[in-house]
Amino acid sequence: MKVNGERLLTDLFQLRQFTDTPGEGVTRFSYGQQDQKARAYLLKEAGAIGCAAETDALKNIRIGMPQNTSGRQKVVIGSHIDTVRNGGWLDGIYGVTAGLEVMRVLKDCRLEYDLELVIFAEEEGSNFGSTMTGSKFISGDYKEEDLDHLKNDEGLSLRQILENPSEEELRQVKWDFSELKAMLELHIEQGPVLEREGLSLGIVETIFGMRVIEVEVTGVGNHAGATPMEDRKDALCAAAECILAAERIVKPNGHTVVTVGRIKAEPDCSNVIPEKTVFTLEARDGQTEKIDYFINQITAAIKRICRERQVECQIREVSSSEPLKLDPELSKTMERLAAQKKIPYRVMDSGAVHDACMIAKHAKTGMIFVPSIGGRSHVPEEDTRPEDLVQGAQFLLEVAAALTGAE
Ligand SMILES: [Zn+2]
Repeated sequence: MKVNGERLLTDLFQLRQFTDTPGEGVTRFSYGQQDQKARAYLLKEAGAIGCAAETDALKNIRIGMPQNTSGRQKVVIGSHIDTVRNGGWLDGIYGVTAGLEVMRVLKDCRLEYDLELVIFAEEEGSNFGSTMTGSKFISGDYKEEDLDHLKNDEGLSLRQILENPSEEELRQVKWDFSELKAMLELHIEQGPVLEREGLSLGIVETIFGMRVIEVEVTGVGNHAGATPMEDRKDALCAAAECILAAERIVKPNGHTVVTVGRIKAEPDCSNVIPEKTVFTLEARDGQTEKIDYFINQITAAIKRICRERQVECQIREVSSSEPLKLDPELSKTMERLAAQKKIPYRVMDSGAVHDACMIAKHAKTGMIFVPSIGGRSHVPEEDTRPEDLVQGAQFLLEVAAALTGAE
């Protein structure tokens, strides 16, 4: 059994065109117009091989093989199709298109278990600042009330965006995990490890956990010319000092990572001293204790800096996820297959979180990485060698075929 590499790459080339920022990377937020176009493309391709699709209230899509029958356990391949702003063309969607290609190859096979492709909605958190929204509803980590808590930049809640789904529709989003035999996610590494070591495959053992906080600093807005330096309570200067303090605290540790990726100053005028600054800060590691330790240290530093600068600060937790060990038995199966096929691989950690994390708490889950050129991701330059993309999809096929007993 072999995937058709050209067909896979054609899908990816087609789908990279669905972006709000042509020429500046892929910007495709869940629930937006480009997202709709990508969904239509994938549903058409799946329809062409006789697969049936269902979309739940959160807009997660489940695509089933034509030979699926009720009552059998299933193997799920899944990832996402949304991106960050000006992101890359492979993050998420590579795993989805590879899953589609696997289904094309297996469409005429006899399967002992059902096979499903799942497209998780709103993985990147681009709309609401909270990642893995679709899979969190699937796992039950998010409840109905979260539909009101999650709001986008325009103040629209997730409930409004989903046009007020009924209780029954929402109940159906959560999966019955006893139906699941295993879940597989194929993804680009988004880091430099595989490329640096000259390997073409990664089998993920642990996924980093993370905590995201939002810090709101309030000073006093005033005239940029008439206010002497010593009379200022500049919210942006205070925020800048807080951010550099976070970097200073975490950097010597060498493993934990901390990022401030979003900052907004108000009123955002060149001639007005910023009155308010809001920024997010996230810390990630493979150990919860270390994440907690650093978030506590950073929070204390932020409070001290704001006190010294006589500005107010409010800190709230936006989201958190635990580090996660993926299924060791499934990892061993994948290692065996990689060795059999003579694919150079390694077992590794994932610094990025993925939808697989939400499923891994409830069912056997495995993750496969392919190398990222220059280790870059979430930027327009994100790329992977075509031969690595095709080999990764081929490996996904081998694993899926082994798990579903395809013949
Ligand atoms: Zn992703």
